[in-house]
Amino acid sequence: MSCVDFVNGKTKVLGVIGHPIAHTFSPVIHNTLGKILDHNIIYTAYPVEPSRLEGAIKGAHCLQIQGINVTVPHKQEVMAYLEDIDPLARQVGAVNTLKRTETGYVGYNTDVEGLLRCLQNRQVQLKGRRVLLLGAGGAARAAAVMAASQAPKKIWIANRTMENARKLGEDIKAFYGANIEAISWEQIEDLEGIDLCIQTTPIGMSPHTGGSPIGEQVLKNVKVALDLIYNPWKTKFLADAEKAGCQIINGFDMLYYQAVKAYEIWGELKIDAQAQRHVKDILEQYYMQSGRA
Ligand code: NAP
Repeated sequence: MSCVDFVNGKTKVLGVIGHPIAHTFSPVIHNTLGKILDHNIIYTAYPVEPSRLEGAIKGAHCLQIQGINVTVPHKQEVMAYLEDIDPLARQVGAVNTLKRTETGYVGYNTDVEGLLRCLQNRQVQLKGRRVLLLGAGGAARAAAVMAASQAPKKIWIANRTMENARKLGEDIKAFYGANIEAISWEQIEDLEGIDLCIQTTPIGMSPHTGGSPIGEQVLKNVKVALDLIYNPWKTKFLADAEKAGCQIINGFDMLYYQAVKAYEIWGELKIDAQAQRHVKDILEQYYMQSGRA
């Protein structure tokens, strides 16, 4: 047995809060980044019940936890306990990354940048293009901000509850004035020339892998299909999209690149593109081999 010496008095502590949190992959991503980049960090997961959120944030600050990721169900509620909030996170209306300052935490949203890097790395450009968002929940808000920020020709938001699609469209228009239209689920069939379809609902997620939010016929009008789900690795939506001839992308890229952006915020550094891809390859391989996919 050898001594454990990679954690010491100078180790920077990072972590993720959520409820439940046991299945999070974030510790694997961040500890791998730390190891490969040779940084003295350790990242762990903290289960935090909603009623204890304020205490958790105060306690983390006292304990000098330098960076915190925030996941379901705290992404909006945590905003009440922060020192400051980044303008982009305000646009999304949710925070997923906290950086410690002496007086409190500053909140950021790295899902927007995570999605953008995911698309850029796959050579998908949105300027002047048409985007269809399926869903209007938390992840869709980040997707809508990302898409609107790229000067697209059109954004359609289709959602089971049309009112939520309308609300999201209005919120995003207030910042970007983009050409956004809320449509009903039925209207999706009338759309043509969809450059990118972003699937943000939980439909098709394990263990309910048989479902897909839209039919194969619609996917014939789509060039690139992105599903935010990564378990299973290829959802029915993506399998159908592939059959229809679309370029397909799953949610692992977004998960990874939002983590990279958070890591960069905490360390006030930029990880070069080659290193980003190198770590992603390692993580992807691990994820597949660990039987999670
Ligand atoms: P959320 O806020 O609860 O929103 C869920 C959305 O899906 C809502 O628009 C909801 O419509 C719709 N929906 C739910 N069940 C549906 C059904 N049976 N039929 C039709 N529409 C349905 O959830 P979220 O946080 O946005 O997460 C959504 C998905 O994105 C999850 O699968 C999550 O794992 C994934 N995600 C992935 C990443 C990543 O890094 N890859 C990050 C965040 C989220 P209503 O408005 O009608 O309720």
